Amino acid sequence: MAIKYCPCGKGDYAACCGRYHIGAHAPDAATLMRSRYSAYVLKLETYLLATWHPDTRPARLDFDDGTKWLGLEIRKSSDPNTVEFVARFKINGRAHRLHEISRFVFEDGRWFYVDGKFPDTCE
Ligand SMILES: [Zn+2]
Repeated sequence: MAIKYCPCGKGDYAACCGRYHIGAHAPDAATLMRSRYSAYVLKLETYLLATWHPDTRPARLDFDDGTKWLGLEIRKSSDPNTVEFVARFKINGRAHRLHEISRFVFEDGRWFYVDGKFPDTCE
């Protein structure tokens, strides 16, 4: 893939989320969350579905071409199975933020995304 900087904002793509997108297993829930954010930016449907727990995984994903992702902020969590984050994006020029507390499980040596709670509504 020809991109240099990782969409999650942490530096070189190949050394950051890129290696998970090509098959390495994320070592913890926060890293998986980060790589999934980058996968949304890059529209990597296969990766997003593969890292989604089979119990809650949708059949397919729709990417909205009007969505432009602007950045990700991961908040500290004391629970290794949850990740709280704020992702900022624009839809057709209007700014939004997604504040989610995501749940993850570790199964068969891999982390999976399960589902998310939304502690406040998006403005
Ligand atoms: Zn990254």
